[in-house]
Amino acid sequence: MIPIQRSALDARTQRGLERKSEELRVKGAATPEARQAWKSARTIRRGLAPVLSGMAPGLSRCMYCGDSEGTDIDHFRPIASDPLGTFRWTNHLLACSHCNSNMKRDRYPRDSSGACLLVDPCVDDPHEHLELTFATGGYTPLTAKGVLYAMVRTKDSPGAAVMFGSRVVSALQALHW
Ligand SMILES: [Zn+2]
Repeated sequence: MIPIQRSALDARTQRGLERKSEELRVKGAATPEARQAWKSARTIRRGLAPVLSGMAPGLSRCMYCGDSEGTDIDHFRPIASDPLGTFRWTNHLLACSHCNSNMKRDRYPRDSSGACLLVDPCVDDPHEHLELTFATGGYTPLTAKGVLYAMVRTKDSPGAAVMFGSRVVSALQALHW
């Protein structure tokens, strides 16, 4: 995972996001309505996709694992957790379908003060939370945020997971992941 700089949107897409956000806010939309609104907002999604691809590392790589092609627009804070953030530009990241659908899904773990425990590569410096071990290609978590990321990152690398497996498992159990 590397730091990612968020780009500006074109005016049309930005206006579209603002309009949709306002519609959801006025309706007091809950998760099902927000999901439906996102699904039907094809023009907006088409406007977001190339900007996210341009921000992503390498050739449109997933912003979480960096391994696979980013094919999905992920809501960093899931729609289930924050329906009114469905059309918030700072809430959109490019993810591969595995990270989006299998690993992250509707999870949004928080600590006791309410602070998010996932690394947002557009906001956080991933290097503060993770240390790359060059010999194995695995990540050693340095913080609670790093623990969660390391679990996702090692999905295809059981050797690396074993290295700090007990730390990962105990931290995740504490978070009820
Ligand atoms: Zn991924």
